[in-house]
Amino acid sequence: MATLLKGGIVISSQGETPADVRLENGLVSAVGADLPAGGAQVVDCAGMLLFPGFIDGHTHFDLEVCGTITADDFGTGSRAALAGGTTTVVDFAAPDKGESLHSGLRRWREKAEGRCACDYGFHMTIDDWNEGISREIGEMIDLGIPTFKLYMTYPAMMLPEGEMYRALVRIKEAGGLAGVHCENDGVIRALTEEDIREVARRMLGAVSARMEAMGIHLDASDEAVAELAREGFDPKYGARPLRRAIQSRVEDAVAEKLLDGTLKAGDTAKLTVEDEKLLVTK
Ligand SMILES: [Zn+2]
Repeated sequence: MATLLKGGIVISSQGETPADVRLENGLVSAVGADLPAGGAQVVDCAGMLLFPGFIDGHTHFDLEVCGTITADDFGTGSRAALAGGTTTVVDFAAPDKGESLHSGLRRWREKAEGRCACDYGFHMTIDDWNEGISREIGEMIDLGIPTFKLYMTYPAMMLPEGEMYRALVRIKEAGGLAGVHCENDGVIRALTEEDIREVARRMLGAVSARMEAMGIHLDASDEAVAELAREGFDPKYGARPLRRAIQSRVEDAVAEKLLDGTLKAGDTAKLTVEDEKLLVTK
């Protein structure tokens, strides 16, 4: 089965050339001007650009990370890739901590085999460090996986810096190439904490307004805000459910004090923390 792509502009590493492209059994058999049809199915490509298939060197299909799973698996992801002209994806095989690289690779092959609609290859994630993994780096290269990924953040994947250094040395010795997800985990955590506290403070403001309507003035210490942020924030869902969590937590605590008579309309309810517990006092 032959196909002739007629009259397009071929884009290659040499530049743009008006040329025909002949395909035989899915492979390019000739590129040149005015190629004869010779029984091939002719596709008019006038005014079109003919690209080689694109390679997406960074996909995460079917990856469990941070309590969730990436939206695309090898089936949907590869079909979306083909729709956009990408004919090869290189996905990151990601063994769990404690798992061997071979085992991680086996699992990733199972995810892809029979499901991936385009060509594919793998990078290997190094998210743990021991003798076995050090040895396996060379074995991965022999299996056609010369590229490795290291993470500086995400608890399930990050390596301590000393181990990261050893991994980089070993990858270099073995002739591989390392890619690093570069983020400062400690700084990200600190900034996230700051952000969440700020959000919690604003949300507590909304709760305060509701309390004022009931005649209760709310006075929250910084520690109480931090505790509410810590309790109510789930990284899986982001800040959105935080308001609901704070609202019910504070309103329940105040309601309890109103019921037992500790607080009455006109009082100031003080929110403090003792032994990591939120306290409401007058
Ligand atoms: Zn990535």
